[in-house]
Amino acid sequence: MEALQPVGSFKIRGIGRACHELVTTGVQHLVSSSGGNAGLAVAYAGRLLRTRVTVLVPRTTPEMMRAKLRVEGAAVQEAGDSWDDAHAAALALADAPNTGLIHPFEGEALWDGHATLVEECAEQGEPPDAIVVAVGGGGLLVGVLRGLHRIGWGAVPVVAVETTGAASLARSAAAGALQTLPRIDSLATSLGARTPAAEAVAWTQRHPIHCHQVEDRAAVQACARFADDHRVLVEPACGAALAACYELAPPLEQARRILVVVCGGAGVSPALLGDWLAKT
Ligand SMILES: *Cc1c(COP(=O)(O)O)cnc(C)c1O
Repeated sequence: MEALQPVGSFKIRGIGRACHELVTTGVQHLVSSSGGNAGLAVAYAGRLLRTRVTVLVPRTTPEMMRAKLRVEGAAVQEAGDSWDDAHAAALALADAPNTGLIHPFEGEALWDGHATLVEECAEQGEPPDAIVVAVGGGGLLVGVLRGLHRIGWGAVPVVAVETTGAASLARSAAAGALQTLPRIDSLATSLGARTPAAEAVAWTQRHPIHCHQVEDRAAVQACARFADDHRVLVEPACGAALAACYELAPPLEQARRILVVVCGGAGVSPALLGDWLAKT
């Protein structure tokens, strides 16, 4: 139930660790190019670490997320029309002395931080028959796989779920090499990485990973069903993983115990969920 993290998503695990590592090596200014949950995690970590944070966001970032970033004390600066523009600006800003850039889904510290999620599961009981994970850039997936192999659960199959308009991992896994989507076409904006982490693609060659795709509509309906079932609101990005469970995607039909990472997301409200249900 990563939706219950203080920032609303699992991102704080890896990003918190990456921020801590940079600050302990002398970084005094943290920079992020994510107007989503990754940026929010940097803002939160920066506040706890008493370190200045700047988040560069593209014009398309909704006011709701900008407000959440400001509440955590981050400076929010608009930079360009797309994430690529914001990221280029963040790279330039991070060139300054004592300044560090936090990537949303890449890096050793980030992956090790995400891995704690699985390590905690090991303390709670037996291995599940399958694990279901939503995939954007694949940082969460890499962390989960690291954790699994570390605790001796290396045979547990993983269902890696993307929406059809953001399936950069499925495309790369099928090709056996890193692929870049021409564009993202999904409501699940937190899954919108045109190119996945190379490390995530490499893992598809050495672990039983089932790439699964769901339509936006199924992801959004899963959000509504999950809110009814558990009284918790999550983004469509998380709804994608939940939809795979509700649909019993392969290999879940044969599984008796399923572990689903409820990755959460802060970019949702009852009104937004209503809009998405009407739109899909
Ligand atoms: C970031 C995020 C994802 C995808 O994580 P990656 O590490 O980019 O694969 C999924 N769901 C939510 C809510 C997120 O914030």
